[in-house]
Amino acid sequence: ADSAKAAGRQASLFGSSLESWQQDLVSRGDDLGLERLLDDTRQMGTAIGLLKARLDESQDEVARLKVEVARAREDALSDQLTGLANRRGFDLALASCIAAKIPDTAGPSLLIADIDHFKRINDSYGHLFGDKVIRAVATVLKDNVKGRDIAARCGGEEFAILLPETSIDGARVVAEKIRATIAACRIKRLDDNSTINNVTVSLGVSCYQGGEAIGEFVARADSALYASKSGGRNRVTLAAAA
Ligand code: GH3
Ligand code: MG
Ligand code: MG
Repeated sequence: ADSAKAAGRQASLFGSSLESWQQDLVSRGDDLGLERLLDDTRQMGTAIGLLKARLDESQDEVARLKVEVARAREDALSDQLTGLANRRGFDLALASCIAAKIPDTAGPSLLIADIDHFKRINDSYGHLFGDKVIRAVATVLKDNVKGRDIAARCGGEEFAILLPETSIDGARVVAEKIRATIAACRIKRLDDNSTINNVTVSLGVSCYQGGEAIGEFVARADSALYASKSGGRNRVTLAAAA
């Protein structure tokens, strides 16, 4: 568009000088056929003007598409129900966090949380209330992460939190706070004003060990979560070192 604008300016300058040249020659009684040349130049100027207008339109469209792509990307990486990152978003964040890890610093640490007996909640109070519980848990997670921490809903009633530069002890404190906050929650039913106060989550926590594969890091948190489930639920288990 800038080039077309410059070319348009050149054509108009060229046209002006032809015009003054022609007037000069006409006043001497001979225009050497410059009138035709002048017409061609005007046509060229018009064509460049059209090109410039089309390019401006294209530029507007590119700007609009850029916004749309950014929004689609955001949608593709976030969970519609809770507004947290979704599995894809989390996987990307996890990979870049590990790639950016500075040697000899703690972490990152990973929390995996799963709502206890969620199937029963759905069965007893309905799927819509189940969704409300998922949103309530997501809110507690959001309230307990800060800065570069990432909270995600990885699937159904399972969540993950990534804490960059955080030791296993720091991660345990966050996990315990989340567990206790959710256990203390009272969630209002949809059909009457009664509340449900026995929603709990189980958590597994692992801290990244230098050089470990990402899959291993996640699998250790998963095994710790499984230990929390089989140990009675509503608890936090720390993964053993790799
Ligand atoms: P556990 O304590 O062992 O985790 O038991 P659980 O009942 O929570 O686990 P299970 O995996 O058996 O059940 C998970 C249920 O979550 C089953 C599925 O129907 C429900 N679920 C998955 N996604 C959604 C959702 O988006 N909304 C609702 N309301 N329910 C969901
Ligand atoms: Mg569950
Ligand atoms: Mg589950």
